[in-house]
Amino acid sequence: MLIDKEKIYLSLAHMSGNEQKYINEAFETNWITPLGPNVDAFEIETASFVGVKAAVAVSSGTAAIHLALQLLDVGPDDRVFCSTLTFVASANPILYQGAEPVFIDSEPETWNMSPQALERALKEAAIEGKLPKAVIVVHLYGQSAKMDEISYLCNKYNIPIIEDAAESLGSTYKGKASGTMGTFGIYSFNGNKIITTSGGGMLVSNNRDAIEKARFLATQAKDSAPYYQHSIMGFNYRMSNILAGIGRAQLEVLNERVRDRRAIFDYYYQKLSNLPGITFMNELKDTQSNRWLTTILVEEKDAGISCESLLKNLSEENIEARHVWKPLHLQPLFKGTAYYSHSENENVAELLFEKGICLPSGSGMTKEQQERVINFILNIIKVRV
Ligand SMILES: *Cc1c(COP(=O)(O)O)cnc(C)c1O
Repeated sequence: MLIDKEKIYLSLAHMSGNEQKYINEAFETNWITPLGPNVDAFEIETASFVGVKAAVAVSSGTAAIHLALQLLDVGPDDRVFCSTLTFVASANPILYQGAEPVFIDSEPETWNMSPQALERALKEAAIEGKLPKAVIVVHLYGQSAKMDEISYLCNKYNIPIIEDAAESLGSTYKGKASGTMGTFGIYSFNGNKIITTSGGGMLVSNNRDAIEKARFLATQAKDSAPYYQHSIMGFNYRMSNILAGIGRAQLEVLNERVRDRRAIFDYYYQKLSNLPGITFMNELKDTQSNRWLTTILVEEKDAGISCESLLKNLSEENIEARHVWKPLHLQPLFKGTAYYSHSENENVAELLFEKGICLPSGSGMTKEQQERVINFILNIIKVRV
């Protein structure tokens, strides 16, 4: 192990410098609470940035998905369709509700939900009389899913869409902000995301009443009474006024962060895309990805090295790279869960998992750090082919 080499991380928090100002304001006014002026402002500023009517700041992206399912009245015996190639947080809230997840494969162009797999799943569910209560569509690593095709199918069967835009804040699809095309959209401000509050999330919608209800549910569902009265079950999911202060400063630099991450992608692409056996995640036509993480596929027979060995080599060089998400239908947690592949003999997400690597992509990376990763990969692959 070359432990003398400085570690290059996958994606680190990148502060703008203004965070302290909003935190100080909170301290000076003693708003050290969940709720408060930073929370209200962060919600309004985020809603206006992405162009939706309403937003509620919550404690995590996972909490935002959970609230969306609760608002759509998902319960035991209900089904929810979900992208299979994603982080477990996309689907855990389905289990919180006691509902049944059904996983939908990726398609090769975007790596996101396959419209043809979704169509088959919907057709079969309609025949069985068990259509899902919601479809959770993930925009992986900033790349937009094929929303026109997916929306068309969901509209046809009248199924609401929850966009899991945890990784795609700042991305656009045909001019629309990622997360604003479904009935609900969710963002995450976890430490490794494109902007962060250290931990937090946001639920957005054009349905103001639904967001009001989410705000009520996220605040222990406290009735408006002169004492603590509760008629239904709620949650403690609100964001603190301190963290919302960090979020406000981060939102101010979101466009810069997108620009920086896209530049990192471009640099990797320029230097590595001609290597045999290395291909990059596309960008779908008429969309702009925030390029949260630069991801490549390694074809062992052409590159002379497997994805697994390349990751091991990178790690020995103190460079943090990761496998692409392990598909949820392959997770022990979801053993036996229904799954619809892209086509009868094409399991796209499984192939992407086998060959996919996320490269260090933090917006705070220096040019020298990017070059260290690039040169290391160039050397490894060049000596083998
Ligand atoms: C990070 C992430 C989440 C969860 O967000 P948290 O804020 O960590 O709860 C959900 N879905 C995807 C795709 C993510 O990457």
